[in-house]
This record gives sequence, C-alpha cells and structure tokens, in this order.
Amino acid sequence: MPSFILKEDLSFQPPEVIQARQEELLNQQIRYCREKSPFYKKQLASFPDKHYTLEDLKDFPLTSKHDLHLHNDDFIAASQRDIADIVFTSGTTGKPCRIAYTLSDLQRLAYSDATGFRATGMTPDDIALITCTLDRCFIAGLAYSMGTVKLGGAIIRNGLNTLESHADIIQNNPVTAIVGVPSFVAKLGQYLADNGVDYSKIRHILCIGEPLYNRDMSRTPLAMKLEGFWPGCVYSTYASSEMVTSFTECSTRKGGHPAADLCIVEIVDEDGNPLPPGETGEVVVTPLQVEGMPLIRFRTGDLSFLIPEPCPCGRHNMRLGPIFARKAQMLKIKGTTLYPANFFDVLDQIEGVDNYYMEVSGTGLSDEVDLYVSFREGDMESNHVKEKLLARTRVGVRLHTVAADAAHKKVFGSTRKPLRFFDLR
Ligand SMILES: [Zn+2]
Repeated sequence: MPSFILKEDLSFQPPEVIQARQEELLNQQIRYCREKSPFYKKQLASFPDKHYTLEDLKDFPLTSKHDLHLHNDDFIAASQRDIADIVFTSGTTGKPCRIAYTLSDLQRLAYSDATGFRATGMTPDDIALITCTLDRCFIAGLAYSMGTVKLGGAIIRNGLNTLESHADIIQNNPVTAIVGVPSFVAKLGQYLADNGVDYSKIRHILCIGEPLYNRDMSRTPLAMKLEGFWPGCVYSTYASSEMVTSFTECSTRKGGHPAADLCIVEIVDEDGNPLPPGETGEVVVTPLQVEGMPLIRFRTGDLSFLIPEPCPCGRHNMRLGPIFARKAQMLKIKGTTLYPANFFDVLDQIEGVDNYYMEVSGTGLSDEVDLYVSFREGDMESNHVKEKLLARTRVGVRLHTVAADAAHKKVFGSTRKPLRFFDLR
C-alpha cells in the first residue's frame, strides 16, 4: 500500500524527474488494472506486457462515464474486504453510479488535498470552516476535511448549516479559511458584512463546484463578489469522485496544479485525439496510485485547456485552466453555441436578483431555454433582466419570475451542490 507521506512537493522537481516518476506510476497502474480490474482485463487484453511511456498513453482507449455506468461492477478492482467507502455520482442514464475507495484511496485523497491546500499557502496554523456536506454519499467534503487535517490544520465541520450558525462560529473562533461552494460563501460574506461580524482573519476561501474564471482567465462575477469580501484570498479547486484527485490553484492563482504523483492530465478533441497545450477540449484524467476503482484516460465531460508556460510558483507539473463549461450543457440556440454560464454570469451581476435556474428543452435543431428568476429587490422589468441578457448573449430566452423560496428549493433542494441547470432534452 502506498504511504502518501506529505513531504517535498514532487512538482518542484525538474520536468524530467516528474516525467520519470509519472511513467513509473503509470506502468504500475496499468499492470494493476490488467490484473485486478475486470473491465480493463478484458479491454486491454491485446496490449503487450511492456514498459509504456507517457507518449504511449494516447494509444489507450478512453473511458467514459457511460462505460462506468454500463459496467459499474467490472470497474471495482479491490476485494469487498478492502473497500472502505462507497459513494454515488449521477449516472448518464439517471441511475446513480457507484464509486468505491479503499483505505489507501482515502489516504490518497487526503494527500491530494493537503498538497493543494499547502500550495495556496495554508499551513498547520490554519483553522478551516467546512461549509459543504460530509455525508449524503459525497466524497468532496470528506476529502477537503481530511486534506486540512493531513496538512496539520484544524477543521470545523459545520457542513450545510444556516448562515447564522456559520457566522456564530466565525465570531467565536479564530477561523482562517472557509471551504465551500462559492455562491454560498458569497451569501455568507454578505451576511457577515450585514451583521458586523469580523471576517478579516479569513485568508483562504477554497471554492468547489462552481466556476471562478472565464475561458480567458478573467474572473466571473461570482468570483468578483467573493474578492469584494476577501481580496486576493479566493482559490479555485476542481475535483470529481471518479478521478480521486483535485486540481488546486497555487498562491499565484494561475491555473490548477494536481499533485504530480497522482494523475496525468490530457485535453482531447471530439474524436478523442490529444490536443496541444493552450487548445480547448475535454479534460481526460488518468489517476495514479488508485486501488478501489482505477481508471485509464477517464473522460470528465468538462471543458478546459492545459497551460504551457511555467508557473511563477516554481512548480513544473502541468497546470489545468479553469473549467468553464460542461460538454453536455452546451446549448444550440438559433445557430449560436452558448453555455449556461453565459446567462448565469449576467444574472450574477444584477444586484436585485436573488436566485435563478435554467430549464432546457427541445429535440430539434434549436434548444428552448426557460430561465426562472427570483428577486430580492424589484422585478424582471426594473432590473432590466431581458435587455442585459440580450446584450451579452444575443439570443432571446423565455423569462419567468418565481418566488424566492421556490427558487431556493429547486436549486438547493435535492442535491449536495446547487443545481441551476435542468436538462429536459
Ligand atoms: Zn503555481
């Protein structure tokens, strides 16, 4: 079992040292998959037993979420006795997909997030308030908590609790970091400001699940809102249950670094061919040192690009740009390609808007978009919602006003993350 000791960050080593280590771990992972994973045993049967280079990785088949769903049991490579934690992700056909972790995988997750948090500048002196869920068959909250502890810091696991309870903890404890979903943390910032709670000691806002950057690395309105409360302290992390690895921004905030010994990341085009750094495509991840459910060339469905320039922080491993869209959420409206974020960014900038969600329907050439908006002040007309959306997106969508509690229930009701995009296509 690997030990995942938090020592010197491999990313600071010269590129050839990182590459050699990644290659060694890749070969270990391929051998393990062929031996223990029923899915890969079959799929890779015709691959010769030899040493593979990082360059050879492109010849391996991609694994999609649909594969995971269709052959879920066949992906589990560890015996039932060795499985320690089971979570579920939303499957491609609506049925939840099972992901299983061994004890070593949980230790690996802690190492992954400890490495990422350390890169943001967090130290063993930090106390992190965890505002995301640790239960509901979810891994992220647990991973971030374990990562903070592995780094030597302390956690306060208040989870999905009320703004009042978080404010009370911040008022009475020397909290220095907040881990959570950015739209929620922005609401918390506003609440702290409105109620005169001192939040100046909080130096790390670690954001999960919602984009903080656009394709051009400019900040989204939501990120700007957070920066208003905590200037220079807002960090993005990207992770998923399947890839068991997180990409966290370092203190220079110029793209996400994964721990160099935990994954190999590629960007591929529509046909699955690797794209050079800087070009936009689908993020494909090969996690290393995984036991429970190892994956080779996993298609995440998320769109981003690799950043070729060396990072000013001195780490040499490949950085990932912001996840600015999900491939499945692409909208085709009257010949124009748009993403939900194009609409959400506009709504985030309108002061009077309290909450919103989008429903997409249509089976023909053009998608039908319905936007549901609730207001804290004024209405659709006085906030010029229609004009502002048109100015940005150039396409008209159907707008509906909804009550604040109904919108809240729809967005936060049934899931662990805020859900603003409902695909009825
Ligand atoms: Zn860096």
